[in-house]
Parts: sequence; structure tokens; C-alpha cells
Amino acid sequence: MRSGPPPGLVVTTAMKVLALDFDGVISDSAAEAFVVAMQTYAELCPSSRLAAGADELPSGGYAKIQANQIYPAFVELMPLGNRAEDYAVALRLIDRDTAVVDQAEYDEHRQAQGARFLEDFHHLFYQRRRALLEADEGAWLALLRPYSDFVEVLRRRADDAVLALATAKDRNSVEVLLRTYGIADLFPSERILDKEAGVSKRAHLSVLRQRLSVAFADITFVDDKVNHLQSVASLGVRCALAAWGYNARREHEIARSLGYPVCNLMDAERRIFGPA
Ligand SMILES: [Mg+2]
Repeated sequence: MRSGPPPGLVVTTAMKVLALDFDGVISDSAAEAFVVAMQTYAELCPSSRLAAGADELPSGGYAKIQANQIYPAFVELMPLGNRAEDYAVALRLIDRDTAVVDQAEYDEHRQAQGARFLEDFHHLFYQRRRALLEADEGAWLALLRPYSDFVEVLRRRADDAVLALATAKDRNSVEVLLRTYGIADLFPSERILDKEAGVSKRAHLSVLRQRLSVAFADITFVDDKVNHLQSVASLGVRCALAAWGYNARREHEIARSLGYPVCNLMDAERRIFGPA
């Protein structure tokens, strides 16, 4: 009787694992997240000034959503969050005209929201997303964009690493998008660690390490949130920041100071995979 990992999960010693965050690395989902978050917030806080017009947002299309006057502030707060419920924190800060300067200040505000509100937001957010997707998949997909240059890199270099996803997104949305972007074959189901894998990326990478029987040192992790990289760095994984995602100079400076490469779409292939 054979032992060890099941077929398809075996990684040879020469092979390295590339674990990727999804939103902000493979998929530009900010507009879609904004729509779903606004609708969720409107349902939970119907008297908020942000509630007006939330239901009509999806019909505005991608360009109109990007032109929404609240959208820039929402995107600016995205690097400080981790999960769907962080959109509630961001919208509440915007709703109350409260500015935060750094992660510590953001975390304080998050804490003040109360676990119940954040939990309710989390559940309702995923219900709302599923409802949007099921009502009109084409309209839902129109709110999302792949980072095509990076998707092409993954296709081109697919034999140079075992590819995996470590995402706080839900599996169903991820699988629909991977199919739409034409790269579903690069990410078999057992190498997609979704929101159910845990609250932090440490949990995702720990499951992945066990599942693939590799050392943390054999894993390169690419995320667009520097706080995610910080949370896994002590495991011994190699970290890189995807500068094309939801981050800005503040995050680039933190990443550089911690020694993580800050990759852009022009140099990501060389810096992550090495020379072709
Ligand atoms: Mg991300």
C-alpha cells in the first residue's frame, strides 16, 4: 500500500511552490467588492447616507462604479483589511468621515465595531455576492477584470512551479473566475485554499505545506497586502508584494523595509520565477 500525499499533490524536491493571493494579484475585484460591500452595508445600516442607491450600483457597470465618489476612499482603505468584513470597517470609516493613518489606528477602529456586526456583515456579504452571481453571471463578471499580464506569466511559467491559491475569497467565485480567465487547469481544487482554510494566510500556507509535503522555505508567497506577507514571513516562506494590486507607496515602503521584493507587472516574471 502506498503512503504519502495522493497523486497530483506530489512535489519533487526540485520543484518549488508558488502560492498566490487571488484578489489584487490575479483578479482586479475592487469594483465588484465595492458593489457587494455597499449593498451589504445598506442592508445592515439602512439609515446611513451610504445606503441610498446601493441597489442600483451593479447596473452602472465597471466604469461608472470606478467613477463613484466613494470608491477612491474605499480602495485606499483596502490594503488595511483582510477579509470581507473589513469592507464594513472601511465603509463605516467613510460613513463617519473618519481618517486613519496606519494599520494600528485601523485595527483600533475595527475592534470598536464589535464581533457581531462584523460577523453579520461577513455572512450577508457572501449571500449578496452569490445572489448577484446567480441572478446574472455575465453582469457579475463584467464587474471583474483579470490582471492579464500576470495571468499570461502564470500560463507561460506553469511548469516552473507548483501553483496554488491562498485566498480569503469564497471557492465558488474563485473557480468561476479561473475558468473565465482561462487558467482553471493550473489550479486543481486541492491547491485552492479559500476563506474556509482559516482567518489568516498563516493558516492557508500551513495547510498547503502539509498537503504538498514541502518545507515552508520551498514556498514563495505573493500577495498584494503587506500585512498578509508580514503574518507569514516568520514561517520561513519567501514573500513578494504584488505592486499592481491594492497597495500604494505606504505599503511599498513597509515591504522594502522588511526585505520583500516589490514586484510590478513588468518585472514579476523575472523576480518571482527567475530567468526564463
Ligand atoms: Mg489581495
